[in-house]
Parts: sequence; structure tokens; C-alpha cells
Amino acid sequence: MTTHTLLNTIAVEDAHTSGAYYKRPLTLVRGAGVYLWDDAGRRYLDATSGQGVALLGHAHPAVTAAVAHQAQTLITCPEIFYNDRRAELYSVLAGLLPGDLRRVFLCNSGAEAMEGALKIARLLTGRSGIVAARRGFHGRTLGALGMTWNKDYREPFAGWTPAVTHISYNDAAAAEAAITDDTAAVFVEPVQGEGGVYPADPDWLRHLRRLCDERGALLVLDEIQTGLGRTGRWFGFQHAGILPDLLTLGKGLAGGLPMGAVIWRASLGQIEPGTHGSTFGGNPLACAAAIAALTTLREADLPAHAARTGALLREALAALALPAVRDIRGQGLIIGLELRGRVTPALQSLTEQGVLALPAGKTVLRLLPPLILQPEHVPVLTEAVRVALSAAV
Ligand SMILES: *Cc1c(COP(=O)(O)O)cnc(C)c1O
Repeated sequence: MTTHTLLNTIAVEDAHTSGAYYKRPLTLVRGAGVYLWDDAGRRYLDATSGQGVALLGHAHPAVTAAVAHQAQTLITCPEIFYNDRRAELYSVLAGLLPGDLRRVFLCNSGAEAMEGALKIARLLTGRSGIVAARRGFHGRTLGALGMTWNKDYREPFAGWTPAVTHISYNDAAAAEAAITDDTAAVFVEPVQGEGGVYPADPDWLRHLRRLCDERGALLVLDEIQTGLGRTGRWFGFQHAGILPDLLTLGKGLAGGLPMGAVIWRASLGQIEPGTHGSTFGGNPLACAAAIAALTTLREADLPAHAARTGALLREALAALALPAVRDIRGQGLIIGLELRGRVTPALQSLTEQGVLALPAGKTVLRLLPPLILQPEHVPVLTEAVRVALSAAV
């Protein structure tokens, strides 16, 4: 046991934390696979993946070995130099991405990827109009915040965020009216995650693709939550059979280490030196972790596995026919249960039963387990949800 177990973690954190988070009174100290352990040694089945990050679960040996090795080799190497791990990551990404999605800007988080996508879209088009979707979530830095729909997040910073036209999700006429010859880019999530787990209608995504082509706007898919197998395909846009012009990745990209990426079509060209940059972007440590994570996802065919396990889980949840549940939505292993009441009591009950889950708004219970979830975990999760939602009504 190390000395930190002698500290009262919650009291010390509360004395110093920014206040930015709705914190749960739970101290997590260890993870392995789909499980997490608290400081009292209690085990939890993790249906949060650390907000969608732990696609491979926790402490995956391929990722930990790659990180340990790279940490002893070279941790930092800014992009003014070339680096072997970065080149290898570009190659691995190119092997996974369809079409000519070949240009990559590496950064350190999802919001940073969205900031990059905004600047890159403007640089590539010379236009300034931005279209995003109601209920969309794209992060909390100022540019990304402008595209995020939730007014509680945006309004305290009114005047500091870029002007964005927000249209109804899955609404063809709204897109038709909003996308103009001044639109630099249209930003959407293939499944709205934080906004309540709403999958896009594939016809709507195809319609957006056509409108963007006709009007010279770029289609940017925010796959920070949906990408890398979460929806049961490598990328959410594959369900609609389209190709975006730009794609943003984050969350699980580097197996749990911080990393974001903006990826765009080679045919659009590069941006000029000096127009964007990042000190940590493309660092060898994160690149080594990402290579290990992506290679493991591919070798275990985890996108297809997530499609199967996700279907089992959704069927099992639907079969409960719980009166407390209004609707079940999702794709692969991003699943939302729209409740008749508030989600907080259900989350508390789940925690008491040893299951960690997420909200998506005030009334949606979001299950975002690691993609390595096995069929034998499905009845465990389902029973916990049954108990939690039977108590809630
Ligand atoms: C999490 C998320 C972001 C923001 O990522 P951070 O790493 O928290 O900045 C942006 N877009 C989507 C769709 C997300 O799920």
C-alpha cells in the first residue's frame, strides 16, 4: 500500500477541485478489463469506459506494454521533428480509414480536435459560416462550445463563442435552409452522445453529404464518442455509406492516454505552416499507445464484437419492458434509455449494485461499456438496470 491511501481523498479533492464537475462520492483506484475497484476494494462493472475512453477496458496489456516501452525510449518530440512512432500511427490510421481520409492533425483532446477542425475548415474553404445541430455536444473550449447546443454550457460565455446556426437533428428541410454558399462546414455527430443518445437517420446524413457537395461546404463528423468501433462499425459514418470531408477523433484513440485528431481528405490539400499547432500534439508516448490500441481493436475485430454484444444488450433491456423506460436508443455499445423520471436515482442504485453508468441529459441513462464487454456481462448489466428502474418508479 502506498501513502496516498492514508489521505482522505474526497476531503483533499474537495478542498482544491475547480468545482467544474458533478462529482460522485466514489474513489476509484484500479481497473482491469471491464472492472474498476474503489479504495475499499469493492468491484464495479464499468459501463462508463471513463466517459467513452476505455474502449479496450482498463489496463489492457497491449497498451500498458507499449506505454512502458515508449516511456523508456522517448516521451516528447514536437512535430517540428519527424518521429518513428508518429509515422507508424499515421500508417495505422490510413489502414483503417476509407477513401482519401489521409491528412491528420494530432492534438490532445476532443475539444482541441474540434477547435482544429473549425480552423482547418475555414482555412480550406475561405468561408466562415458554421452549421451544427441542436442537442449536439462538441466540447467546452470556446470554439467547440459555440457548436455545443446546451445553453447552460454556452450562455455564461455569450459573445465569446463563434456564431453558429443550429439546426434540428435529422431534419432535412432545416439543413436545406441553413447550408449556404457562405457555409464553411456542417458539424454533426453520427450518434448524439451527451445530447441523449440519438442516432442519425442514415438518409439525413446522405442528404447532408449531397447538400455540402452542392454548396461547397465541408461535412465534418464529430466521431470523438462514436468512432473506433463504438457503434459497431469502425466509424459511425459507415452506417450511412458516406465519407465525411473532415473527421474528429478523441476519447479512446490512444487507449486512455490523452489524444485527439482531425483527419481530412487528401484532395482538400494541406494547411499552411504556422496556421495551427500544438506542443504535445503527436508526441511519441501517445502515438505508441494509439498504435497499440488501434492494432488491438483491429486484431480482435472489436467493432463487430461491439455490434453483436450491443444488439444482445439492447434486446435484453427491451425484453424487460420496464414501465420506467420510455424509449431505448443506440447503436453498438452506445445505448440510451430514455426514462420517465430523472436519471440520478437510477445511477445511484446502479452504483450500489456495483455497476457504473452515465447520464446523457437529465432523463437518459447512458450505457457506454468497454467494447471488450462479453455476452456473460449482459445479464449482469440488465439485472442491475431492472432493479434500479423498478425502484425508481
Ligand atoms: C467528449 C466529446 C467531445 C469533447 O472531448 P474532450 O476530450 O472532453 O474535450 C467532443 N465531441 C464529442 C462528440 C464528445 O463525445
